[in-house]
Amino acid sequence: MTLPKNVRAQFLRNFKENFSDELIPRLLYSKDIVDYKFPFIGTVPEGVITVNSEEDIIKAIRIASNTKTILIPRGNATAPFGGTIAHNNKGIILDLRGMKKEIDIDMFENAVICSANMRIAEVEKILNENGVALRFYPLIFYSATFGGWIATGGWGLGTLAYGPPEENILNLEVITPDGNKKIIEDKEEIKLFLGSNGILGIITKVKFSLRFHSKLEYYIASYDSANELLKAVKRFFDLKPFSIQMFNPKQVQIFNKTFSYNLPERYLLILLKEVHYEEEKEPFFERFLNKVKETRGQIINKHYYSNIEKTQWKTMETAKITNRFSFSLVNIPILEAAKYINYLQKSIKEIRIIGTIVSKTQILLLIVFPFKDHLTKSQQRKSSSKQFRMIQRSLKYKGSPYSTGLWFAGTYKKIYNEKQQIKLQKYVKKFENRKNINLGKVFSTSIKKLPIRLRTLLMIITSII
Ligand SMILES: Cc1cc2nc3c(=O)[nH]c(=O)nc-3n(C[C@H](O)[C@H](O)[C@H](O)COP(=O)(O)OP(=O)(O)OC[C@H]3O[C@@H](n4cnc5c(N)ncnc54)[C@H](O)[C@@H]3O)c2cc1C
Repeated sequence: MTLPKNVRAQFLRNFKENFSDELIPRLLYSKDIVDYKFPFIGTVPEGVITVNSEEDIIKAIRIASNTKTILIPRGNATAPFGGTIAHNNKGIILDLRGMKKEIDIDMFENAVICSANMRIAEVEKILNENGVALRFYPLIFYSATFGGWIATGGWGLGTLAYGPPEENILNLEVITPDGNKKIIEDKEEIKLFLGSNGILGIITKVKFSLRFHSKLEYYIASYDSANELLKAVKRFFDLKPFSIQMFNPKQVQIFNKTFSYNLPERYLLILLKEVHYEEEKEPFFERFLNKVKETRGQIINKHYYSNIEKTQWKTMETAKITNRFSFSLVNIPILEAAKYINYLQKSIKEIRIIGTIVSKTQILLLIVFPFKDHLTKSQQRKSSSKQFRMIQRSLKYKGSPYSTGLWFAGTYKKIYNEKQQIKLQKYVKKFENRKNINLGKVFSTSIKKLPIRLRTLLMIITSII
């Protein structure tokens, strides 16, 4: 797709060298952390704008709105849901990385206000130097921006201890789809922005509650099966952990290969606990040990974890360059997760699964699908379609693909429930009638001339090939 001449001229006049519709940059922006290859659905945008200020965003929104052009906000494109790529080759990418980065720590309110394009790790480093820390963060800590993380759901390590994102986000500064600045403070309204993939506006600043920077100690145990581990999890809740994670044996095998470890290739449980004083450590370990014994697990030396922590966080973004993996996230009830994990492992032996217990009832599964080398285009498409089907299968186990990017448009209701969907639709109607930010990413669009929803069409195509 190319932009109509008059539209191109307006963007070019206003953004000069910060606008491009040359093929190479458009191709560079045609994928996120996953290089999906779906038949008949193009992902190459019509242009790219690098915005440097809120005024730039407002300008871009106003031109887009007047010319009926779609805008696609992009943080660091690490979300594996297609939210930052063009839908049917339509839309202009709004690259937010060039925005000014500002951070302000309010020690009295125990809160931080920072630019939404800042990466989570870069803010955490500054916070830690000031004796405070974020209450929770995603696994993709080094790469994700605050804006992208919130727009895809905002859960992570620490939500088990500190509660859901809307309890800890004090406000969001956004530029709405009609080009106005707004501060969102109401909890219910903040909730609508979680998982909205930008359709309600571009988040420019976030304000988060903080915790004191007490050290996080690790405790590790292993279990024979996903079922045993997930049954055991409940028993650990009264230890008041900061977070609990789970790794499947394939993932443990990768740790063994990478670090020449000799870990048992079983299911690993990793518990993080905030420790305020040295004296707390030993009695806590005793309590952990008892729980592990009661639940028929095995204690593992915690020193293994320092390398594991570095790999799982620091190397994730390299997937963007290597294209050797594809990721998905599924939020699923803890009680149903073992069945789904077993199904995934049966379907693809090499599959790697990292689970984060995000609340007392839910686990967020990060599923790493390996891509084989030297696949033809059609084999790549088949593999993407198989992955799509496997993720959709989570719905059978009361799970839901975690966010509503392009490939899962239409599943909002399943993820966030019907009441929330009605609220979002009402909100969109009231504030976002133009629907020109990330069109088709949260709610399905019908393909013109075809009386069929995009998702239905995708399902048919993927079941044929
Ligand atoms: C390996 C891996 C681990 C992950 N672990 C977790 C986890 O533990 N917890 C968790 O919650 N998520 C997790 N995720 C998903 C995670 O939320 C996203 O990958 C990441 O936060 C996206 O950040 P980003 O800046 O790259 O956003 P992008 O990928 O650039 O954007 C994501 C979506 O948000 C929109 N968007 C981007 N910036 C803005 C903005 N400023 N305003 C409005 N909309 C915007 C985009 O249009 C897109 O729809 C993980 C993903 C991966 C690949």
